[in-house]
Amino acid sequence: MTLDPRVHSSPRIRMSANLLEPCLDPASQAESTACLSWYAMSPDLLEHYIKSYIEQQHHHEIEFVWQGEEPTLLGLAYFKDVVRLQQQYRPPGAVIVNHLQTDATQITQQWAQFLAAHGFFVQVQINGPIRQHASPSVPDKALALAIEGVALLRHYQVVFSTVSEVNRESAEAPLTLYHFLRDTLGSTQMHFVPVVKQAQARSNPSRSFPFAQCEAMQSPTDPLMTPDSLLPGQWGNFLCTLFDEWFYHDLGNVNLPYVAACVETWMGQASPLCTLSSSCGNNLSLTRNGDVFSCQQYQKPEYKLGNIARQSLSQMQTGSQQKLFSLAKEAGLPHQCRQCQYLFTCFGECPKRRILQTFEGETGLNYLCRGWHQFFSHIDHQVSLIIKAMGYQVIKKIQPARYQGKK
Ligand code: SF4
Ligand code: SF4
Repeated sequence: MTLDPRVHSSPRIRMSANLLEPCLDPASQAESTACLSWYAMSPDLLEHYIKSYIEQQHHHEIEFVWQGEEPTLLGLAYFKDVVRLQQQYRPPGAVIVNHLQTDATQITQQWAQFLAAHGFFVQVQINGPIRQHASPSVPDKALALAIEGVALLRHYQVVFSTVSEVNRESAEAPLTLYHFLRDTLGSTQMHFVPVVKQAQARSNPSRSFPFAQCEAMQSPTDPLMTPDSLLPGQWGNFLCTLFDEWFYHDLGNVNLPYVAACVETWMGQASPLCTLSSSCGNNLSLTRNGDVFSCQQYQKPEYKLGNIARQSLSQMQTGSQQKLFSLAKEAGLPHQCRQCQYLFTCFGECPKRRILQTFEGETGLNYLCRGWHQFFSHIDHQVSLIIKAMGYQVIKKIQPARYQGKK
């Protein structure tokens, strides 16, 4: 469970390290889709990062999260070095835990054996078999390779979960995606990420727009959002359909992190998911050149905290800039959220998606509000049943210890 920074004086620094990033097309300054070259984190910086990250942890278990465009393209030798350096700098008695995000297309027998031998937790990023006409579709070959890669992970008993982006098309077929993940891949932990992107063509993409316009956005030709962005109601239907399937067929066998998070918050606990927590700020993001940002979702100059070659991670984590970032999640809640019966479990969700105005014209409402509210109402009764069956009390309130803001 994620530690709540408000009730722990020595918060765990959690950092996602982007080891490999695509080149930029210097002519257009846009990300080149035909990019053949990549920038990897240099061996010197990698060693510095591993050493300083370990030094600044105060917990018995030290977690590394490796991601980037596709980290396995760096090759097995690179990760063997990672493990060697971790062991070199590991304090006596400390345990190193590695998480690797991958699309699984490069997983070979050697990779799977290595990941199993070193106890890596693998998060497979896979969007499933649904053709995504509004965005570049996943070639069948890549999907077949990913299925083979996951089969190897299973064969060598590597612990893995899946994370799938849900767009306007896949949101229409929740059970196709769910059954693919469960039956074809054997995933027992499935996380889903909604695709919500403002259209580039908008003159000011950060400007919020009225809730009423959200309804008008139902047209696929609407210019406010990209064509693959799902619609708020779709997100609600998607989550509700998954929940019903899970509740009646897979409860106890499959873990849906959104549902698990709701069970925790219905019991009055802090959410293990940052998106549904009261504050941000405990998931720093490291780029391959050593720059550190407040969050993976905010890799912009104004959210840069420093560089690991020059500043300590704890300075960046506990500095005033990151504290403000952390508190902004709650401070930016509109009145509609503060009055919402599901504030205790939603907290206005991720600020990155707060692009709507409320009916009263206040900014800061989450684009997916309608979908989230539908989901929370839909599961309310069953989540309460689960908690009572476990012998616990249903609280459904914000615990004062973890929320000190205005209501
Ligand atoms: S900005 Fe979004 S993804 Fe980043 S920490 Fe906050 S809730 Fe999490
Ligand atoms: S469901 Fe909507 S109104 Fe309620 S807290 Fe979440 S975003 Fe705000």
